[in-house]
Amino acid sequence: MKSDKNCKLCRSKEADKKGSHMVPFLLMKYIDNEVGSLKRDKELGFVISNNETKSYIGKSILPEKLEEVFGDLTDEEIIQKSSKPNVVDHVFCSECENRFSLIESQFSQILNKPDSIFENTDNEGICVVKDSCKVSLFFWLSVFWRFSLNNEKPILTTNEMETIRRILDKHLPKHSDRSIENIPIYDRDLSKVKFKVIYCPGYSTEFAGFLNMDFNFSKPKIMIIGDFIIQLSIRGKFDQVKEKDFYGFNEILNKAPELSINSNEKYLIIEKKVLRGVIDGVIMRLTNARFEKINQSLDQIHVKLGGDGKKMSLELKNEIFQKLSEDQIRLGKKYTKEHQVEVISEVLKRFVVE
Ligand SMILES: [Zn+2]
Repeated sequence: MKSDKNCKLCRSKEADKKGSHMVPFLLMKYIDNEVGSLKRDKELGFVISNNETKSYIGKSILPEKLEEVFGDLTDEEIIQKSSKPNVVDHVFCSECENRFSLIESQFSQILNKPDSIFENTDNEGICVVKDSCKVSLFFWLSVFWRFSLNNEKPILTTNEMETIRRILDKHLPKHSDRSIENIPIYDRDLSKVKFKVIYCPGYSTEFAGFLNMDFNFSKPKIMIIGDFIIQLSIRGKFDQVKEKDFYGFNEILNKAPELSINSNEKYLIIEKKVLRGVIDGVIMRLTNARFEKINQSLDQIHVKLGGDGKKMSLELKNEIFQKLSEDQIRLGKKYTKEHQVEVISEVLKRFVVE
């Protein structure tokens, strides 16, 4: 029987598992942990959307660090911030959760490879990591699928979600003694799936880790996650990469080798300054989108307060934007909804006739 209480992967067992990571911890620790720590409960993460910046904290973050980032926090605020956006209850059954862990632990062996393997890179920056990409393929399929399942904005279409669910449910091993690499797989759905891996070893240990799903692209889907940029195409098409701008870095998307179920595992290795450039591009786009949103709100406020015309004056807007970006407040409080309201009211206060 299919019901809402059933596991989203197998759909047959009760979703009894609590604390499922919708983005695997082995990737997330590079992204949202306090710089220099890869331990559990050391998260210090920010979720940036068009409207505001929200933050969350792990229970092992020291009070001194909290003070540095947020200033004073009430107990209530601490409890609020302890709910991690990527950890959820009752989505999978314990058995399926275990299947995800198995593929993650097999994939982590690639992450732990000695650096020497990446020195084996040809003139084009292509590096053969292993003779089979099966583990990687299943791992990345599971990452995109779980991320989409947990995201308000769907990343994959309903059809794509169902195709991946079928593939994962059919092939993810249930026991640790069965490695996917040793099983011959003939699967119509899977034979069409293609992906590309761009890897920048060590990026997130030097710079702040980053996770972003690029909604400008749908064929392929593009995810920036920790040290990786992954392109995934369920129907094997990468056409959009030739038509749409990827922050001026389309060359790397094109250059990365296309992988499918029977390929060798091959990565395009890029320098840190290149990934940095891509991430700066994404942040610039998010910032512009955010400021456009505030711009619209300011016009609405202007009309509500009975101002002339439909738009707030540019002069006043600029004053607010400048104050928002230059405000010397704790990092953890910057650009939150409260911060935006505070700055806007402060600037507008001088127009109030007492
Ligand atoms: Zn299940």
